[in-house]
Amino acid sequence: MPRTSTSMPIQTVCPYCGNYIITITTPVPGLLSWLLCSSLFIFGCVLGCCFLPFCVRSLMDVQHSCPVCRHVLFHHRRL
Ligand SMILES: [Zn+2]
Repeated sequence: MPRTSTSMPIQTVCPYCGNYIITITTPVPGLLSWLLCSSLFIFGCVLGCCFLPFCVRSLMDVQHSCPVCRHVLFHHRRL
C-alpha cells in the first residue's frame, strides 16, 4: 500500500472508481502505539494506562480511504 507523509485528507483520483475525491482519514493503531503500549506496560502502568496510546489520535497511524468506493488508498505511518 502506498505511503503518504500527511495525516490530513488529500485530493486525489481514486484508482479503483476513477472519481476525483478527497480522502477520508481514519486513525488506526500503528507501530508507535504498540511500542508505547508495551513500554508503559513494562514500566508498571496497570491495565488501562497502557491503552492510552490507542486513544491519542496524534500517535495513531492514519488510513486514507475513498468516500465513494471505500477502498483504502494510502497509509500514513508515524514511524
Ligand atoms: Zn474510489
